Amino acid sequence: MVSNVGRTSAEWLRYITSLPGVPGQEEAVARELLKAFGSVADRVEQDRMGSVYAWIQGDGKPPRPRALLAAHMDKIGFLVRAVEPGGYLRVTEVGGFDSRTLPGKEVLVHSSPPMVAVFATRPPHLQKKGEADRPIQLEDLYLDTGRPEREVKRKAPVGTMVTLRQSPIELLGDRLAAPGMDDRAGVVVMLRALELLASKRPSWDVVAVATVEEEFGAVCLGARTAAENLSPDLGIAIDVSHGDMPGAREGDTVPLGSGPALSIGGNIHPVVLEGLKRSAKALSMPYRVEPCPTGSGTDAMDIQISSSGVPTAVIGIPCRYMHTGVETVEPRDVDRCAHLLAHYLSELSPEWRAVEVLK
Ligand SMILES: [Zn+2]
Repeated sequence: MVSNVGRTSAEWLRYITSLPGVPGQEEAVARELLKAFGSVADRVEQDRMGSVYAWIQGDGKPPRPRALLAAHMDKIGFLVRAVEPGGYLRVTEVGGFDSRTLPGKEVLVHSSPPMVAVFATRPPHLQKKGEADRPIQLEDLYLDTGRPEREVKRKAPVGTMVTLRQSPIELLGDRLAAPGMDDRAGVVVMLRALELLASKRPSWDVVAVATVEEEFGAVCLGARTAAENLSPDLGIAIDVSHGDMPGAREGDTVPLGSGPALSIGGNIHPVVLEGLKRSAKALSMPYRVEPCPTGSGTDAMDIQISSSGVPTAVIGIPCRYMHTGVETVEPRDVDRCAHLLAHYLSELSPEWRAVEVLK
């Protein structure tokens, strides 16, 4: 699928995953998304938290019901915690990287100007007895910029953002591996869905929100504040779901290339889920149902409990190796999620309310 702004989904994925933005420092990605969304939406704006809103005006009679889509634009990374003698940087993580995957990785220290560095640790010959037998922790690692202590201290003070510096890797079958697919792939789904909705107007207003601070911790700050701000009648979060991989328990993952993963559980409104399934069937699109017995771990958790409650659902993009530098997705799944969203939203009648359907 080629967008009307001239990029395929794979090209959008490559571009949007390359932009920095740990929780709380999303300015650079927000700037680019204002432009990207601005090329397809009727209106774009940023709220006080920094989340980016893209509006598609419905063609129903006002006052129109409103659907909120949410995909988080922050991605996991690091902050400088200390500059040690010799100019070595110690970092703290923001969002939860798998530390075992970090030694030998190249990073970008977002200093002024930015500096390239490597995640390093002592080689096996210089380790203490038994040290290699336990899993590596972030405290075992440091960043080596190659620059002297004074210069590093001046350019990269405590709190400076650090992100993996890794170009997307093209695997066979059009699959792409890159840090930040969680959840920039969801942002691309929203962008493609907006394009489809701009040409085939729904009766509802649709606001796609690239949220800040989902990876922050217990609360999805951007989603919570956007939902309070917009008072939507319906909320759908788009995020990554664990893709199939060796060693994972069957039932805990969904195969790459199998289309959207639709969550089921207490975080999900059954009527919205049924509607999404109906849309997938109408489009002859494969999909999986993914049990989420506890919270979905997505923006949907906070949208659902904003104000007096919002019917919510989660559309998952199958993604392997979450929270590592090689988060892997298949662009075809991204396209499918966008088509599913656009179809579901354009089928909503102006009078439809999930809560009333349940009664
Ligand atoms: Zn995510």
